[in-house]
Amino acid sequence: MSSTLTHLECTACGRTYPADELIKTCPECGKVLFARYDLEKAAATMTPEALAGRPWNLWRYAEILPVRDEANRITLGEAGTPILPAPRLGAAFGLDRLLIKDEGFNPTGSFKARGLGMAVARAKEMGVTSVAIPSAGNAAAAMSAYAARAGLEAVVAMPVDAPAVMQAECVAYGARVLLVKGLINDAGTIIREGSSRFGWFDVSTLKEPYRAEGKKTMGLELAEQLGWRVPDAIIYPTGGGTGIVGMWKAFAELEVMGLIGVKRPKMIVVQAEGCAPIVRAYEEGAGHAPLWEGASTVAAGMRVPVAIGDYLILDAVRTSGGTAITVSDDELLEGAHLAATMEGISASPESGATIVAARKLREQGFLAADDEVVLFSTGSGLMHTDLVSREGLPVLDPADAPETWFAGG
Ligand SMILES: *Cc1c(COP(=O)(O)O)cnc(C)c1O
Repeated sequence: MSSTLTHLECTACGRTYPADELIKTCPECGKVLFARYDLEKAAATMTPEALAGRPWNLWRYAEILPVRDEANRITLGEAGTPILPAPRLGAAFGLDRLLIKDEGFNPTGSFKARGLGMAVARAKEMGVTSVAIPSAGNAAAAMSAYAARAGLEAVVAMPVDAPAVMQAECVAYGARVLLVKGLINDAGTIIREGSSRFGWFDVSTLKEPYRAEGKKTMGLELAEQLGWRVPDAIIYPTGGGTGIVGMWKAFAELEVMGLIGVKRPKMIVVQAEGCAPIVRAYEEGAGHAPLWEGASTVAAGMRVPVAIGDYLILDAVRTSGGTAITVSDDELLEGAHLAATMEGISASPESGATIVAARKLREQGFLAADDEVVLFSTGSGLMHTDLVSREGLPVLDPADAPETWFAGG
């Protein structure tokens, strides 16, 4: 199983470039580059029968992934995450076929492992020795882990108020950690400056072509896990948008390869009320999403005020007949609580947003009772225990009389 990577293609102006040169964005227009493959050749070996015997990791679909040399296919056991039925939530919301793809199982606890695993592996293959990233937290942790795995130097810049667990993870994996007074875009300014001074390779969202290829595996896996078909709708907590963009690309490639038909899921974006540039652009019918001033939400993964791939996200949403919706911080925290208490699923705040979005869209009639709906739980709740109140929990002393132990009943 070898990569059938052929070239890079600009998603805006259509110019093409050689795949084995270190190009980040389109040299002509600055927009997002996509990796392109010989899909006919890939289809000859990436058959359902052949796949059945392969491990469920990032490299399962190697024919349509960019890394050529097997020695560079580093893995920490990511991907192959379960699709869990959510019958109790479904019954409460009036959705008979509600499913949750639980990405919290990935190394470092979020789906960022897929994109950064791919970007780091391909960067290594291209001779890069140090990788750098601005991040709200999860991407930095994932890049740090995969850089350590690949033997590359890692530099991360993240907001000083990014979750302590994620900062600690980066330190633990040996990355150089820069804390920034500001948001992810401010961290981006610092990484860009460092990259031009010191030659770090910047793996910011959609500013190099290969993270999206890692995210693509979510769509490939979803189709395979459902028996080579797609659901009626996907609800995705959207920040920089690589997840939506990657899955949309996955479905197009699978159709060309004859593995799925023409049907596409409705691609549904959910963002927080305090940072909703894509939702605003969707509602205004715009093709681009200008910077959202004063971005603020507890869901750091969705606190992305401006996205370079805005036009690709909006195109996937519109072409698929999807929609874009906001939820408040209180609602997304309620969603995470519901996932945990009703289904036993540890959900990050971003994941909680998809739960409440499903409820709202059913109430509004956008989703029908018999629609098969897949929610992406992009991160584990275990990194967010600070958001769970433990106030007022009783502290028992076995030396006290037993009748005092259960004062609360
Ligand atoms: C980064 C992140 C997101 C946003 O993902 P994109 O694909 O960049 O839109 C959502 N949830 C979590 C937990 C994240 O870390």
